[in-house]
Amino acid sequence: MDLFRLTRAELAAALAPHVDRPFRTAQLWEALHARGAAEWDEMTDLPKELRARLAERFAIAPPAVVSRQLSRDTTCKYLLRLADGATIEAVDIPDRERRTLCLSSQAGCALACTFCVTGYWGAGRDLGPGEIVAQVRAIQRDRGHASDRLNLVFMGMGEPLLNLEAVREALELLARTVSLRRITVSTAGVVPGIEALARWPRRPNLAVSLHAPDDARRSALMPLNRTWPLRDLLGALRRYPLESGRKLTFEYLLVKDFNDAPGDADALARLVGGFRAKVNLIPMNPDPVLDAALVPPEPARVEAFQERLRDRGLIATVRRRRGGDVAAACGQLRAFGRDPRGFRQRAS
Ligand code: SAH
Repeated sequence: MDLFRLTRAELAAALAPHVDRPFRTAQLWEALHARGAAEWDEMTDLPKELRARLAERFAIAPPAVVSRQLSRDTTCKYLLRLADGATIEAVDIPDRERRTLCLSSQAGCALACTFCVTGYWGAGRDLGPGEIVAQVRAIQRDRGHASDRLNLVFMGMGEPLLNLEAVREALELLARTVSLRRITVSTAGVVPGIEALARWPRRPNLAVSLHAPDDARRSALMPLNRTWPLRDLLGALRRYPLESGRKLTFEYLLVKDFNDAPGDADALARLVGGFRAKVNLIPMNPDPVLDAALVPPEPARVEAFQERLRDRGLIATVRRRRGGDVAAACGQLRAFGRDPRGFRQRAS
């Protein structure tokens, strides 16, 4: 039984036959996920006999770093293997005095967005809260920067709002050391997930992958738009309670000759103009496994798009591409180790 995969309720159920008191769940949870205990013997708050009994049934097997790829720009991509053999990637993106860790929430993604390599390789299982938190711990340990100022973004593999309970429990653990203001959950637009998030008493920042100013083009890029079209998505976001001083982020993928025209900027401005929000433009990161037409616009065109949004009163930034030389940039995570075909594709 893999302890890192279990939600808190699942851990309680797994422990129930073996423990005397219900608070043992809380003790084990703290030891594993808050303190990062690597051995049963470190858990001195548990009675010795209990530790021995648990050790017979449960292994402490946190996600392990299998490999790391360092980009020329100092971004570092990690391949991690989970106890059941599933693999995920997470990325460390240093930027002067702070760094951003990009975390995975699933070992694959079922949403099949046409521009994303994770989606190309298909669905993978949900990560447990411990597996999400362990990505931060593994990278911190490897890079030796436990005291750095961190931003955490759920922009790695998977759709965080399709794995809500684990993400919620992971956030509870992570928020002890990183302010929720420095944590961002990015969604492709899972409306019931946004509605659930809206009811949480304490929330991370929310980023929404918009990517097109109309349903026809959004559905062409993102099949989930047929389930939750723009009208529903924007409706849920209008009802979303934003704490003071916070903004929503709308991510907008820029694809050459697809959604990068001046008129598209105007349409985007009309869609999101009423929100307390910023727009983060992401020039498309191409990949050999994806449709060859999916390429970024020329830099001047990206700049013109940004200017046009600014002229219409929006806050618009362009996401700098990081880690592209090691396939660590947005949309390029595939957990190479998972499928040998991945290596062939990359080599071609
Ligand atoms: N499932 C979440 C997190 C995904 S990754 C979501 O959809 O938001 C974070 C961002 O990278 C998303 O905005 C996603 O659309 C974007 N992205 C995916 N593939 C990309 C690519 N090839 N080039 C640029 N951005 C990409």
